[in-house]
Amino acid sequence: MPDTLRQAIRDVVDFPKPGIIFKDITPILSDAKLLRRSVELLVDTVSEHQIDKVAGIDARGFIFGAPAAIALNAGFVPIRKQGKLPWETHSLSYTLEYGTNTIEVHKDAIKPGEKVLLIDDLLATGGTAAAAIELLRTLGAETVCASFLVELSFLEGRSKLALDNVQSIITF
Ligand code: IMP
Repeated sequence: MPDTLRQAIRDVVDFPKPGIIFKDITPILSDAKLLRRSVELLVDTVSEHQIDKVAGIDARGFIFGAPAAIALNAGFVPIRKQGKLPWETHSLSYTLEYGTNTIEVHKDAIKPGEKVLLIDDLLATGGTAAAAIELLRTLGAETVCASFLVELSFLEGRSKLALDNVQSIITF
């Protein structure tokens, strides 16, 4: 099945900027079997753990994170881009190739000691996921695992994550 998933991912040249080849996962979303299987495989990465919360990264991490939370009988926590969350937040800025980005999480989203699975669609340079793991640490969460549908391993993003348990379903 990971091969079928891999074949469904489409390369889009020069998106969102010239020189970037974007991995488009929307063909997986529009296929009932592939969508279900993606969520099952992400859930399987933590099968031996009792997870309290799934944290999903804005925005495609929400698509996979919320059904994974339901399957794990866990709550769901959105980690959002700056200015989108209505209540009190912790925020963290991180550097991109050009400029910076800021992500936020509600201060009361996770209780200290709760076990969290972090989910996003894709691990590239690792900057976003590293910032998300840091935010979860600020809340006192125990991040059990970070799981990605796709990993661009040539960018070595996982080396930026202060976490032993990093899982991906499809690697390019
Ligand atoms: P990183 O911070 O460089 O690891 O980038 C990962 C973040 O950017 C994730 O939230 C992804 O959704 C998004 N992203 C980066 N490149 C791609 C891509 O080729 N396809 C889909 N999402 C991407």
